[in-house]
Amino acid sequence: MDRPLTEVERNVLSAMLDRPFPGAPQLRAQLATARVVGQCHCGCPTVDLAVDVTLPTAVVDSRIPVEAAVPDGGLILFVEEGRLSSLEYYHLAEDPPPYFPAPDQLRFT
Ligand SMILES: [Zn+2]
Repeated sequence: MDRPLTEVERNVLSAMLDRPFPGAPQLRAQLATARVVGQCHCGCPTVDLAVDVTLPTAVVDSRIPVEAAVPDGGLILFVEEGRLSSLEYYHLAEDPPPYFPAPDQLRFT
């Protein structure tokens, strides 16, 4: 799999990376080049990301310090070796949610 981000994916990632934290500027620059290179097989919208490897890396250890909660779960943005790695939608509902929530549904903690 290698495809552009959907508009929803891009909007959710933008909203998470608009929060102030160390490394956010580098990750925002990477987001402009991000592509989806894998997807969870359980039916949820979790995606693996790849970015332009020539861009500066971010000093972020394993995941950004921002959690975006939604009523039935939340989103976690993982970083590997300073690069955007995957966007996970963890959920408490029995059936996986098919789509990422709209950015205005996210509550940041
Ligand atoms: Zn899944």
